[in-house]
Amino acid sequence: MKVVLTGAAGFLGSHLAERLLRAGHEVVGLDNLLTGSPANLEVLRRYPGFRFVQHDVVEPWPDLGPVDAVLHFASPASPNPRSPLGYPNLPIHTMRTNAWGTYHGLEMARQHGARFLLASTSEVYGDPEVHPQREDYWGHVNPVGERAVYDEAKRFAEAMTMAYHRKHGVDVRIVRIFNTYGPRMRMDDGRVIPNFIVQALRGQPLTIYGQGEQTRSFCYVDDLIEGIVRLLFLDAAPFPVNMGNPHEYTILALARLVNDLVGNAAGLRFEPAMYREGDPKRRQPDITRARNLLGWEPQVPLRAGLQRTIADFRQRLGLA
Ligand code: NAD
Ligand code: UDP
Repeated sequence: MKVVLTGAAGFLGSHLAERLLRAGHEVVGLDNLLTGSPANLEVLRRYPGFRFVQHDVVEPWPDLGPVDAVLHFASPASPNPRSPLGYPNLPIHTMRTNAWGTYHGLEMARQHGARFLLASTSEVYGDPEVHPQREDYWGHVNPVGERAVYDEAKRFAEAMTMAYHRKHGVDVRIVRIFNTYGPRMRMDDGRVIPNFIVQALRGQPLTIYGQGEQTRSFCYVDDLIEGIVRLLFLDAAPFPVNMGNPHEYTILALARLVNDLVGNAAGLRFEPAMYREGDPKRRQPDITRARNLLGWEPQVPLRAGLQRTIADFRQRLGLA
């Protein structure tokens, strides 16, 4: 199979590309390296089936020849306004990447009769009023709130994907990804697990935004990629599928676990909440659909996944 994968230099994109390359597929990676890393590309370049095209997916796409699947993973993904790489600081880019990028990807899929898979997000549920979140929940998003540039862009991307399915019969997949972590995550993009691991390895207190009572459910990257690959190769699934780990933790519990695993005695530092409003208070996927459809559920417990991630960060920070 020949796959075009946007965001291939990023965290999830590089893991997905590697998994497909290992299985003998051909992967053309499109990325503008905004938040992705050349080191991730080095890993992929070891495989003869990989080709990289540096390209901003907002612009019309180059002709890449016949293609069997288009997987759209390019997008800033960190909500942290304190990081220059967080989408609040890349608001128009984020909206264009998810709107124009999705459009160009769907057009390529339509022209070649290819399958299209969209990396969507739990953020389509916003700050949810229903818990845990099932795919038939329509969400609670403030269209003019601080996170809207991402949430609404992903909602638009989902709507566009379904429009191509209904109008042109494109064979589409939508994965609603819940917080996923693991090796190769960018250390400075401001998401909670990289922040905590880097702080702990440097012997600094971990920054808790607010009181740390908000919850998230963290999925190890290998589990997520397994689910995505199963969905990609399923015969038909023109509807969203949640993917994430249903075990829910408070941010406080996560911080204590990271300090414990690293042996960091510097403790915690409480800082103002990340947003005045809109930082989701609770988030947990209902993965019944993925279980029934794909026989999939996460296998890697948080402690084990964090240990692997800490080892990777140690190495990249030159501490191993
Ligand atoms: P990442 O920042 O590591 O990867 C994103 C990649 O997209 C980067 O390589 C970046 O350079 C590239 N990119 C951004 N804008 C681009 C553009 N206009 N043209 C070309 N390339 C562009 O983030 P990630 O965690 O790997 O996220 C990948 C996808 O998964 C994103 O669409 C994100 O919204 C989605 N997602 C991730 C998570 C998670 O927990 N990691 C959760 C929900 C959804
Ligand atoms: N957070 C935190 N300290 C940090 C970074 C994040 O307490 O250094 C919190 C943040 O306020 C949010 C949660 O951790 O409630 C998860 O944040 P992340 O940026 O990883 O992604 P989100 O799940 O909000 O999309």
